[in-house]
Amino acid sequence: MRNIVIALSLLLSLSLFGGGGVVECQAQTQQKRVVVLDAGHGNPRPGKVQKQVREADYVLDVAKQVRQILATRTESLDVYLTRSCDSSYHATQSVDNRMRAEFANKKGADLYVGIHANAHQKPTVNGCEVWVLTLNEKLMNQNDNVAARYADEGDFIDAKDLDRSSMGFMMALARQLENEPYSRYFAEECCKNMSSYGLKNLGVKAGPVFTVLYYFEGPGVIVELGYLTNESDYNYLTSKNAKKEMATAIADAIISYFKALDGNSAEVVADVAQEPQQEAQSEVKVLDEGYTIQLISSMHSVDVNDYQFKSYKGKVRELIGTGKYKYKYCYGTYSTSAEAQGALKEVRATFKDAYVVYFKGGDIVKK
Ligand SMILES: [Zn+2]
Repeated sequence: MRNIVIALSLLLSLSLFGGGGVVECQAQTQQKRVVVLDAGHGNPRPGKVQKQVREADYVLDVAKQVRQILATRTESLDVYLTRSCDSSYHATQSVDNRMRAEFANKKGADLYVGIHANAHQKPTVNGCEVWVLTLNEKLMNQNDNVAARYADEGDFIDAKDLDRSSMGFMMALARQLENEPYSRYFAEECCKNMSSYGLKNLGVKAGPVFTVLYYFEGPGVIVELGYLTNESDYNYLTSKNAKKEMATAIADAIISYFKALDGNSAEVVADVAQEPQQEAQSEVKVLDEGYTIQLISSMHSVDVNDYQFKSYKGKVRELIGTGKYKYKYCYGTYSTSAEAQGALKEVRATFKDAYVVYFKGGDIVKK
């Protein structure tokens, strides 16, 4: 994002001022990075209230501490809070979320970090997690994920309400494709850091379309610090050092994110794509025709090494089917339907909506 702005201003200054533009360009590239920290909720919406803890207050304290820590550790960041008191932007939650995104856009934020504490109907659910935006059709429809976290109405855009042919959606999709590797890189760092203080690492999640991430124009995440509804998370989060530790975890992630980005932004993306799965290296025999497991489908061609396929790295193939979402991403080849069904169960642990299809060469066909 910012790189594009810098590149454009370089072009402009070169064409307008000739050689003098180079100096201006150097000054521009040294510009500070901008981070927007968004403490979730705020009066009249307290977020989750659990015993003495009001989520809105808790996350505001954490956001303020993140800013403080960053101020002592680096001079290369401009850090803004969306709110510094117990007040939201707008009475309507969906408008409120959009206004937070617009605030971050106006500040030219290179990174947006929403901060929340979590809640669940089941008191046994615990751990920290970080959400990123996906506009991937299959993932978007996994709205079970929504129920798994505490949300006010308007926190999400219902996937059914999105007009996929609209210009607004196309632009949001283009932004998401560009920003997602960066958001995920940051999200992974943040999860790792938070869990180093003893919280269970639930990892990076995607699925619901967060209103604020949909309208924000750069890499952004929603951090969930832990479950206030779980006894062990609650005890940790209300312990003496927890706010400072969570703030340190987020601040460390921000610093290492920009360090990686300043080193080589291509590396950030490569790192993310490369991460795990040694077992994926083993030889796989690929049939020319047979059954395969479709993981997701997409309107646009997706890199088979994309981060979302990390569990099956090196084993995902792009096949072509019919319909608007004609790019199908598939795993495995099987000569019988029974074999494919046998493998499906494990695949569904990662790709909930995966199913068995028949293929011939590079196409999905009806059997
Ligand atoms: Zn919240």
